[in-house]
Amino acid sequence: MSDHAHNKLTTASGRVYAENENTKTVGPRGPVLLEDYILHEKMAHFNRERIPERVVHSKGSGAFGTFTVTDDISQYTRAKIFNKVGKKTKVFVRFSTVGGEKGSADTERDPRGFAVKFYTEDGNWDLVGNNTPVFFIKDPKKFGDFIHTQKRDPYSNLKSPTMMWDYWSLNPESLHQVLILMSDRGTPVGYRFMNGYGSHTFSMINAKNERVYVKFHFKTAQGIKTFTDAEANAMKAKDLDFAQRDLVEAIDNGQFPKWNLKIQVMTEEQSRNTEFNPFDLTKVWPHGDFPLIDVGVLELNQNPDNYFQDVEQAAFAPAHVVDGIGYSPDKMLQGRLLSYPDAHRYRLGSNYEQIPVNKCPFAVNNYQRDGQMRVDGNGGRKPNYWPNSFDNISVDESYKEPSDSLDSSIADWYDRNSKIGDHDHYSQPRALFREVMTVEEQDNTIRNVIGAMSGVTGPNRELIINRQLCHWFRMDEDFGRRVADGLGVNVNAVMESMNVGRR
Ligand code: NDP
Repeated sequence: MSDHAHNKLTTASGRVYAENENTKTVGPRGPVLLEDYILHEKMAHFNRERIPERVVHSKGSGAFGTFTVTDDISQYTRAKIFNKVGKKTKVFVRFSTVGGEKGSADTERDPRGFAVKFYTEDGNWDLVGNNTPVFFIKDPKKFGDFIHTQKRDPYSNLKSPTMMWDYWSLNPESLHQVLILMSDRGTPVGYRFMNGYGSHTFSMINAKNERVYVKFHFKTAQGIKTFTDAEANAMKAKDLDFAQRDLVEAIDNGQFPKWNLKIQVMTEEQSRNTEFNPFDLTKVWPHGDFPLIDVGVLELNQNPDNYFQDVEQAAFAPAHVVDGIGYSPDKMLQGRLLSYPDAHRYRLGSNYEQIPVNKCPFAVNNYQRDGQMRVDGNGGRKPNYWPNSFDNISVDESYKEPSDSLDSSIADWYDRNSKIGDHDHYSQPRALFREVMTVEEQDNTIRNVIGAMSGVTGPNRELIINRQLCHWFRMDEDFGRRVADGLGVNVNAVMESMNVGRR
């Protein structure tokens, strides 16, 4: 028998293999003996290699990097990550597409996830956003229905433009995000050449315990680069994994991608007086009124050694904030606070925060014990309850947030008569189309909308197309006419049906 040396092939329990390619059989032609444990272990572990795929954002790419503070924002936040110009914090970032499965094409027309985990000394802070500043819906109760329309049809198992446009046309709050999705920004050239946005409204709390509301923007230092629809489709045929390849190769070649982090700030007083609801995820805060403030630089400079370990097992949650950064009343954010950790407990288990990429590298003290895959010593002999007479773990009241006052009543609110423009789904996309997009971007967007809406089929085709055309008309009449022309629709008939629809 040979020594159990470090370079021998072994089972997971350390038994050295004497053989790795020939199964134990009765005679050279078989049958196979049940006692060949090595065969069973190899097969059994292989059978369990896949963990549940994320329902959304399943195809992703990730890298480690550094966040460096360039400007002092301590007047707004006491968060330790921002407390000194020049301070560096380790980060992990995961980019993703949203609607496709793990093997889907990286160049699909889709929003892109942009999730950042900052390993701060006050705990891990996750900013879990997208490459767009807004979203399709503003109430979390709609999320499951909306996502079903972006996935596969239950009968055909195909992606369905009919489901998508049916849902969007019945939910005009989606128009802003749909316009951005249909512009060339819906098909970015990989992940390096796009912006990221925290999207939700968050809050910041300073050393005087004063609160402001904030929006986070990561502006790409590489410049924006987008594919046209034709280029994105051509890339799909050439390289399904274009964005993954682009990111891994850039970092391997020392071309570390960077983003400039900026914030917009709104006082509590201002938040009560804006014409739009500043906690509505379908709206942006205009830069003219709420200018961008420089904060720091995010750089990605290290590919993970193992994709599954760090990218597949990464778990981000908007609920993970740190002292000095807080939530806001944004309903979508509030829904995500509960839903994201719930998804991780299902996908990775209740101890998902012990997985190295998710683990806080600084002190973690609590009385949570046991559960599947508890591998960190489980608190050893230390007490498993609080308060107790044996340790000195305490709460710290200096971390308390200022109180917030509410002056409303409880209801499942849908305020049809809202005066603050909650139901104005048209002004902001109109501004984007008319005032921000170049003529070329406008032309491409209209061409992309016509192409996408052409996919609507079935008995409700006319109803769905006319209903969506009404929204385009309300946003911009010329846009509506050009889309109607492209779809071969009689514009007068659409004008007559302007009252069609739920709202
Ligand atoms: P600004 O002119 O100050 O800002 C326009 C913004 O639009 C820039 O941040 C620009 O990003 C971005 N942009 C340009 N083309 C597109 C596109 N095809 N899709 C999405 N974003 C694009 O105007 P306002 O702040 O007054 O906003 C006007 C409209 O611009 C808004 O209604 C909204 O649709 C859009 N927008 C606004 C943002 C905001 O936070 N205020 C953020 C993003 C979009 P870049 O600098 O990277 O080119």
